[in-house]
Amino acid sequence: MQAARYQRRVHARHMKFDVVTIFPEFFAGPFHYGIVRRARDSSLIDVYVHDLRQFTHDRHKTVDDRPFGGGEGMVLKPEPLFRAVETILDVAAAEQNEHDSHKWPSETAVVLLSASGKVFTQETARRFAALERIVLLCGRYEGVDERVAEHLATDEVSIGDFVLSGGELAAALVVDAVTRLLPGALGNEASSIRESFSPGRKPGPEVEPRKVQAEVENELIKSVLAAPGLLDYPHYTRPADFRGWKVPDVLLSGDHQEIRRWRERCALEKTRRNRPDLFSGSNL
Ligand code: SAH
Repeated sequence: MQAARYQRRVHARHMKFDVVTIFPEFFAGPFHYGIVRRARDSSLIDVYVHDLRQFTHDRHKTVDDRPFGGGEGMVLKPEPLFRAVETILDVAAAEQNEHDSHKWPSETAVVLLSASGKVFTQETARRFAALERIVLLCGRYEGVDERVAEHLATDEVSIGDFVLSGGELAAALVVDAVTRLLPGALGNEASSIRESFSPGRKPGPEVEPRKVQAEVENELIKSVLAAPGLLDYPHYTRPADFRGWKVPDVLLSGDHQEIRRWRERCALEKTRRNRPDLFSGSNL
């Protein structure tokens, strides 16, 4: 049942992104190239960029104010952000429950970009890719009044353990990572099935006990490779010899089974080397 609903959603796809920012011009670049551009041109996605100041009422279009309790810098005020989301999603303020809020249409996320959010991963991207609409709220200055995280946003998302000067780059990154997961966005669906962090089987249970050792190892490598969190294997293209650095022979051999094994081994090695943390929780 769950799977069927998911399928339906995934196939009748048209996804909307709304970005709320004090720097709308910032997005002239990121949404105009490559896969995101193509997805917009083919109406797979719509991206609307909203100027936060549009949702202010005062003459100066004030979006920020000094922090209560003192301290450096300015904080984005709650009213314009609440008004922005309520207008974009066409939900009257009165419909919002005073204490706990989210009366947003289902299949909609309101995402606050924040250095103190939950870390955005490929799994988050997959979850978002099943939605119909995502509103992305970009902070600036010292950040955003906490009531936005508490009563307006459905998700508070960080793109990594570092501090940016604004949420715009983070929002662009989320749009990109989600868009390329939508069916039809890549042109070649296999690209998003077998790439870094792609989901798949977990190691272990489906390996039959009576298989010969080599086969068991092979199965294990395959299942580990397909498990969530593994990195991609290395890619090479022409020239086969660049400044004396040669492409591994196996890739020129035409032996597809060998090539697959080699790629699996490399993906494991590379993950061990660059991201040993991805193995934690597994026995390997
Ligand atoms: N004072 C805050 C940083 C504010 S940076 C702190 O110490 O945590 C200003 C804005 O940049 C934030 O409101 C947020 O929207 C954005 N931002 C900064 N780092 C980010 C990150 N790692 N991921 C997502 N957004 C980030």
